[in-house]
Amino acid sequence: MTQLTTIQIPGFRGDVITPEHHDYDGARTVWNGIVDRRPRVIARCQGTADVAAAVRFARDCDLEITVRGGGHNVAGTAVCDDGIVIDLSAMRAVSVDLVEHTALVQGGALWGDVDHETQAHGLATTGGIVSHTGVGGLSLGGGIGWLMRKHGLTIDNLVEAEVVTATGDIVRASADDHPDLFWALRGGGGNFGVVSSFRFALHPLGPTVMAGPIFWAAENTTGVLRFYRDFVADAPDELMTVVRLGTVPPLPVIGDELHFRPAIAVASCYAGPVADGERALRPLRQYGAPLVDLVGPTLYVDHQSGIDDTVPHGWHYYWKGTNLAALSDAVIDIVAEHAYGATSPRSYAAIFHMGGAVARAPRGATAYPERNVDHNMSIDAVWLPEQDDTVASAETAWARAFFDALEPHRAGVYVNFLDFDDDTTRIREAYGDANYQRLAEVKAEYDPDNVFRNNKNIQPATPAR
Ligand SMILES: Cc1cc2nc3c(=O)[nH]c(=O)nc-3n(C[C@H](O)[C@H](O)[C@H](O)COP(=O)(O)OP(=O)(O)OC[C@H]3O[C@@H](n4cnc5c(N)ncnc54)[C@H](O)[C@@H]3O)c2cc1C
Repeated sequence: MTQLTTIQIPGFRGDVITPEHHDYDGARTVWNGIVDRRPRVIARCQGTADVAAAVRFARDCDLEITVRGGGHNVAGTAVCDDGIVIDLSAMRAVSVDLVEHTALVQGGALWGDVDHETQAHGLATTGGIVSHTGVGGLSLGGGIGWLMRKHGLTIDNLVEAEVVTATGDIVRASADDHPDLFWALRGGGGNFGVVSSFRFALHPLGPTVMAGPIFWAAENTTGVLRFYRDFVADAPDELMTVVRLGTVPPLPVIGDELHFRPAIAVASCYAGPVADGERALRPLRQYGAPLVDLVGPTLYVDHQSGIDDTVPHGWHYYWKGTNLAALSDAVIDIVAEHAYGATSPRSYAAIFHMGGAVARAPRGATAYPERNVDHNMSIDAVWLPEQDDTVASAETAWARAFFDALEPHRAGVYVNFLDFDDDTTRIREAYGDANYQRLAEVKAEYDPDNVFRNNKNIQPATPAR
């Protein structure tokens, strides 16, 4: 075993960042400001060869490994105490192939990088709804976003991936190469290796789309949700909506007088011609008396980054996620009762409308299990770093009580919305028994020693005796 006195990683050309390094604190910081871990070394890779070198080094030194894509996972799984971070944050290149209509995206890219390069050609693929989220973690968990009802989840658009395995080998996974690995990567998270690059299918889009939020006062929540439920039941695949319950965020496009007022919003994006989007959204825009209607022709890249500032790096976050089979009257009553009970005006709940192309993809084609749920919900407690433990406890308790009240109506959970310790027991819930078992078998083949375990971990299957 290599001794760790001075740290030199054989064959590594990137930055080796140890606690003495001037950028150590910056390099170990992730999106959720609660997370405060001190790795022994951060290996900031320049490319695939560096990733392979870092994996081999970590194994030789028996170091705990974490993998950092965009650093956005709410549970902070990109960093660990005393181990090595395989840091992909310098690997953000995106190149568009205009013949094949695909994008080759390095494993540390953010969605803003992908949108920037692809929209320059009027193309796009399904990505997250906040531009500073990482492509790596989001894609490997499934990937929900504005384009999914038209074009499927992010993983439905994954054509191939370059993967550094637990042995430090570099393999290509696609429908033809390592198909079992390719299946597992599409939903199974970072359990199977480090993805140094993804190739995604692209689709024509915009660059201008009909998009934006409409806000109504919180008192109207029950009515808005009942109307919304019926409205989205017939929505075309092009129309994707997200309900946001909390307070009006203090964005520059919204008048000061509305800032932090309790409100329900329906945010939308129509992935098709603006005129069609205008028609599709008209009934929603005519419902009730909105506080403000910000729907209009918008550059897709602007829409993709429109809420970035409402969830900045460094604030404190705690999430509870759940899928909902349907927005029944009972669910709507629970949502209306709990949604505005948070102490912090920055806490909110979001409900993503699923269906469309997500639901039509063949069952079992990928490791993402929950294709038949109508709605995916995340209850997000948010407070400021300077606020004390009383606020932290109140916000956490609010999210848990809200989640507990929904228990009879829950239908699984999206793995990328799982949070800290009290969610580690929910990984089987995220995959279901059959999918989990199949993932465990692929894990046993590609990572039998569970080297990649700082994630939403799938234990390698033990061979039958
Ligand atoms: C503000 C915000 C908005 C979000 N919006 C959406 C959304 O619209 N849609 C959605 O689906 N999800 C969304 N999410 C959830 C998001 O999918 C997860 O947080 C995801 O883990 C983020 O990926 P990351 O690369 O930034 O995270 P990281 O913290 O860097 O990585 C999380 C884990 O993913 C694995 N990983 C990351 N990159 C790689 C790689 N290249 N190879 C192998 N393993 C890797 C590792 O196991 C790592 O521990 C959002 C999260 C936040 C915080």
